[in-house]
Amino acid sequence: MIRNMKIELHRLATAIYIDVERLRDHEYLVWDRGRAHMVRLDQALECDCEERADRDLACAHLLAAMLAEGDQDCLRMLRYWVPKAAAWQRSISAA
Ligand SMILES: [Zn+2]
Repeated sequence: MIRNMKIELHRLATAIYIDVERLRDHEYLVWDRGRAHMVRLDQALECDCEERADRDLACAHLLAAMLAEGDQDCLRMLRYWVPKAAAWQRSISAA
């Protein structure tokens, strides 16, 4: 999907822990701190929260739904926190 939207690492880190419930194609109910948000991932990329009012910024709810859909940009950004397998094995054997 082509988007002109900024993905911030701290919001993606929050999104990993947010549970989403798929309602229908590209439509999700996203739970965050006891509040439910409606997220749509069609052309509009909509969330009803205050954060999303800034249209250039992806809120954590949008990112949580994008992760649920296997969005390539979001998944690639997770590499920031996960070391490559070789580096991980080196750290295990050094311990
Ligand atoms: Zn939101």
